[in-house]
Amino acid sequence: MERKMTEQELVGSFFDAMRYGHIYAVYQPKMNHSTGRMIGAEALMRWRDPENGMQYPGDFIPVLEKNDLISRADLHVFEVVCRFQRKCLDMEVPCVPISINMSRYDIYRKNYTDEIETIRQRYEIPVDLLHVEITESSAIGGMELVSSVLEDLHHRGYTVEMDDFGSGYSSLNVLKDLDVDVIKLDMRFLSGKVGGRGGTIISSIVQMTKWLGTPVVAEGVETVEQADYMKSIGCSYIQGYLYSKPIEEPEFLQKLRQLDHEPVVAAMDLINTMNSCRFWDPNSLETLIFNQYVGGAAIFSYQRGKVEILRVNQKYMKELGMNMTEKEILGCDPWMWFDEENHKRYEDAMLNAIHSRDEVTSESWRTLCSTICGTGRVCVRSEIRVIGQAGDQYLFYCLVKNITAEKKRYDAMYDSELRFKAAFEQINVYAWEYTFSNKQMRPCFRCMRDLGLPAVVDNYPEPLIRDGIIPLDYADMYRNLLRRLENGEDVPPTIVPLTVGRVPFTFRYTIERDENGKPLKAFGSATIVLDDKKCE
Ligand code: C2E
Ligand code: CA
Ligand code: CA
Repeated sequence: MERKMTEQELVGSFFDAMRYGHIYAVYQPKMNHSTGRMIGAEALMRWRDPENGMQYPGDFIPVLEKNDLISRADLHVFEVVCRFQRKCLDMEVPCVPISINMSRYDIYRKNYTDEIETIRQRYEIPVDLLHVEITESSAIGGMELVSSVLEDLHHRGYTVEMDDFGSGYSSLNVLKDLDVDVIKLDMRFLSGKVGGRGGTIISSIVQMTKWLGTPVVAEGVETVEQADYMKSIGCSYIQGYLYSKPIEEPEFLQKLRQLDHEPVVAAMDLINTMNSCRFWDPNSLETLIFNQYVGGAAIFSYQRGKVEILRVNQKYMKELGMNMTEKEILGCDPWMWFDEENHKRYEDAMLNAIHSRDEVTSESWRTLCSTICGTGRVCVRSEIRVIGQAGDQYLFYCLVKNITAEKKRYDAMYDSELRFKAAFEQINVYAWEYTFSNKQMRPCFRCMRDLGLPAVVDNYPEPLIRDGIIPLDYADMYRNLLRRLENGEDVPPTIVPLTVGRVPFTFRYTIERDENGKPLKAFGSATIVLDDKKCE
């Protein structure tokens, strides 16, 4: 018969309960929902009294806390887990890391970490098979104390998980100040429909933690819908009734024998130019910049050829122009969008960025598919840069610009350039195209041939001034002329002498504008002044 024991009964039988194994641990698997594999487990305390049956943590833990017995109980569970891991190691059953709960009273206890360390060493358990869960509410007693215990645990090699994340309103601040290795996000604290406010909070937390490289385990996951939702926002680690209730040791051992498991991913090191706390903080300038000011931006990870988009801002979706939802973007394999040639070009750019640690620009066509717009082909200019690394996994920051229209115009221009090539030759016209945004000038074949220009002249017109093609005394006038064009002014034909021979040419410019009238490019031409007048 099951009966809830009184405080007095619990306290009275506590030491015997430990001695006779009435207080013991059950195990709840943590799963990777993407692969269906077990990645770890949590040990949960149980108390089965021979006379009164099962007692539940919700009832007996507060009693133990009140009577200053909780640390004894936690050390007992720690030892039970070590004994279990020892058994698995000896029997060569595959092991997974098992987390043990640390109460906030354990944190106040001075040599708690020494005590667990002694037990671990007695059973000779590798430290990576034991994780420690501390709850967010531990920080209530003071951040310094928790920080120092955390540091101590790290120093001894333990992986520390922040339990019950999302239970308090101070969550974000706590996480910012505590350097935990894994975050456990409890779905029950953020319940409601997954698409609603709870969903928004979860998604932004997961996105922020992804950015930091801190793995998230979603706890209390009961439905496939919840699990799929978590996966769609980039969190695949799940603990909850959906996969398994906490189970007794023999059944858990059986599961370990059957199930494949995998190591929990290493935390990502952010490259030191980035301040990870500020990046993570939703109120920081970095986050504000990401969301508001940078244009289309995305964070994605790259590992052995596989790409996963972790975070995009609103402007990213707008820039792609296909009315895709965040979910559509985060949930898919981006390589799907690329044909072989463009895939290769993009991946080469990524490898180049990894190698050079510098910003690399790449232009690529992709075929996007959205529920609203169907499929469409867009050309995107991406500026990518590595911002983090964990083993062979890289984190990229990417700025995108949709250049489809520009590209199509350029292609048309290229065609017409071919067509007019012969004509130019006959009528002695030099022609070129100048793009305001990047100060690039693309000369026609005649300019290239007669003036020795490359196919693309960067920082136009400076190289021509430097090389004496535009004489020094005309340099400022010419720079000014380009500025006026950039401001949208229609500049009348202007005579400029060229080369040391100071041969006079008439320069004409036509401005091309975008749909809002903003100048994009200027098409320039130069024809020789026929009356042989020299410019002094
Ligand atoms: P917790 O650390 O957050 O543990 C997770 C609790 O959620 C467990 O309850 C687990 O059985 C329950 N749970 C897991 N998946 C689901 C789900 O899908 N739906 C629902 N509704 N519940 C789910 P449990 O075992 O009753 O433990 C309750 C709390 O007692 C724990 O919360 C923890 O704070 C505390 N506790 C348990 N074992 C220990 C221990 O060894 N030491 C200490 N200090 N506290 C412990
Ligand atoms: Ca826990
Ligand atoms: Ca929890």
